[in-house]
Amino acid sequence: MIPITVVRFGEEEEREVLEVLRSGTIAQGPKVAELERRFADYVGAEHAVAVNNGTTALIAAIEVLDLEPGDEVLTSPFTFAATLNAILAAGATATFADVSLEDFNVTAPSLEASITDRTRVLMPVHLYGQIADMHGIAALADARGLRVVEDTAQSHGSRQGDVGAGTTGIGTFSFYATKNITTGEGGIVTTNDADVADRLRVLRNQGMRARYQYEMAGNNYRLTDLQAAVALPQLDRYPSVVAQRDANARRLSEILADVDGIEVPRVAHGRTHVWHQYTVRVTDAAVSRDELVEALAAEGIGAGVYYPRLVFDYDVYRGRDDVRIVDVPNAERLVREVVSLPVHQHLSADDVERVGERVAAIARGVR
Ligand SMILES: *Cc1c(COP(=O)(O)O)cnc(C)c1O
Repeated sequence: MIPITVVRFGEEEEREVLEVLRSGTIAQGPKVAELERRFADYVGAEHAVAVNNGTTALIAAIEVLDLEPGDEVLTSPFTFAATLNAILAAGATATFADVSLEDFNVTAPSLEASITDRTRVLMPVHLYGQIADMHGIAALADARGLRVVEDTAQSHGSRQGDVGAGTTGIGTFSFYATKNITTGEGGIVTTNDADVADRLRVLRNQGMRARYQYEMAGNNYRLTDLQAAVALPQLDRYPSVVAQRDANARRLSEILADVDGIEVPRVAHGRTHVWHQYTVRVTDAAVSRDELVEALAAEGIGAGVYYPRLVFDYDVYRGRDDVRIVDVPNAERLVREVVSLPVHQHLSADDVERVGERVAAIARGVR
């Protein structure tokens, strides 16, 4: 069996967690502070505020912007439900811009086409491990006086030139079990704005500045030292994790390069990819996307479809005033074409060959 994700820790994590257990400080404490410092450094932001998951990271990022009811957050329709749920939980209206077939992300022109007079926030989602065109999106936000919140749950450390994912406006990251860096559940918010960072710290702790001195109606968004302890050794290893994922992705793309009807993922010029997922498009292969997934599963190769439908295309979101649907033809096409293949750092060289060769054979119709 070659699963699409494997969670495996080393002795370093065991030692860090044991230290926290023995210290008696298991809730938010020095390990969380250390994680915040080191994570901010790593992504190139001035501040990082750890929270209890990636969804609350998004909610907190929107909440500190003090939006009015009816204000719109413009995001990708090709994302996980958390992106949309967070916008709604924060009391804003969600609307959408189409994604590019090249990098699966929203672009400055697609966002611009969807801007209305109620738009306040541009929220790109850096999908699968590749940062969106933040040079273009930052310029658009500046020109239109809009805020930027980046859903970076899948793209820890991806960069466009010297711009790290999550450093343009407010960046939100997830440390969920399947993400590139994990604490089981966890998240972190990054920003270069000291005032935003300060408000996030107060917001995550019941709105409390000092004991029983409340500055806002807050919440409990805190991460624990037990969780932060699990993340710290992963930060040390992360460059080598990304390098291994990158090597696996390159090899898969070599094997699949000349398979008709399979489009391998591209790394945009000037950007880095951290390969949260390695995602191909099945355009006109000998089998359909769903047949390919089924055939791979039958051979013990875990392949995943992220995502089988547009984020708003579920009954629970239909007919809501705070979900404003627009036409997104590229995204509609992608939900039928994409499939993600195992690319993680725990694959052996033989695993990578087998995944590539089996996908190639099945897609060619030679089983
Ligand atoms: C995982 C994920 C989230 C939510 O993170 P959680 O830690 O699971 O709450 C948000 N957006 C995207 C794109 C994700 O992949």
